[in-house]
Amino acid sequence: MRQPIIAGNWKMYKNVNEAIELVNNIKREVYDVANVGIVVCPTFTNLSDVGQMLVENNVALGAQNCYWEKEGAFTGEVSVDMLKSVGCKYVIIGHSERRKYFGETDETVNMRIKAAIESEIVPILCVGETLEEREASKTIEIVETQIKGALKGFSEKDIVSLVIAYEPVWAIGTGLTATPDQAQEIHAAIRKLIAELYSDVLASSMRIIYGGSAKPENIEELMREEDIDGGLIGGASLKPESFIDMIKKTSKLYEGTKD
Ligand code: PEP
Repeated sequence: MRQPIIAGNWKMYKNVNEAIELVNNIKREVYDVANVGIVVCPTFTNLSDVGQMLVENNVALGAQNCYWEKEGAFTGEVSVDMLKSVGCKYVIIGHSERRKYFGETDETVNMRIKAAIESEIVPILCVGETLEEREASKTIEIVETQIKGALKGFSEKDIVSLVIAYEPVWAIGTGLTATPDQAQEIHAAIRKLIAELYSDVLASSMRIIYGGSAKPENIEELMREEDIDGGLIGGASLKPESFIDMIKKTSKLYEGTKD
């Protein structure tokens, strides 16, 4: 059985005091949740302080991006080893906001993933189509191109712990959520692609999580789908009660029938 992941992408929200308060609220309520991988991804400036709150905790620390070089004259960038030194276990790579506003391409996504793998940080690779691409029936084609580009040159062993987040761009921060059927269709296609590119074994163990206006009201119906293994949560992860509720609902679902 794949362990689900609920990861909070805090984007460019929260100063350091607010971030500490948020993480303390979360960890106090979910300390006994053992069957869900819980991840919070604050901004770079808050990673160290939030990380100190999470030493030996069931809530893991993640970053929202990383650079591919180890060190050097790259003003404004942060290396994977730097992330590791403050306790990061995960890093989000290729988020659609990075692709849209900061020139992220499948090639740079590939280089960032390589750096993360080499430093043993779990990459959360984000893929997803725009509304125009969906309306032109190009969703699967777009997602497949993004995944093939992102994973170019990696062996099965390299990506054994990688997580894929399917995040339709039109659903991120818009309040529009993919229906469970829409999300399941793409998650299943991604799993099939991983089987074709690598193996059935890798495809059946890889976590494929959904992102795009997921919230307490819709998390259960999404999580019931066979190929949805968790969520990358933006807006709702900034409200402790919502994020905690989503974690608990997911945990309960996995204690029950979903396998
Ligand atoms: C995200 O930022 O990855 C995301 C899914 O945001 P939201 O949940 O706010 O749509």
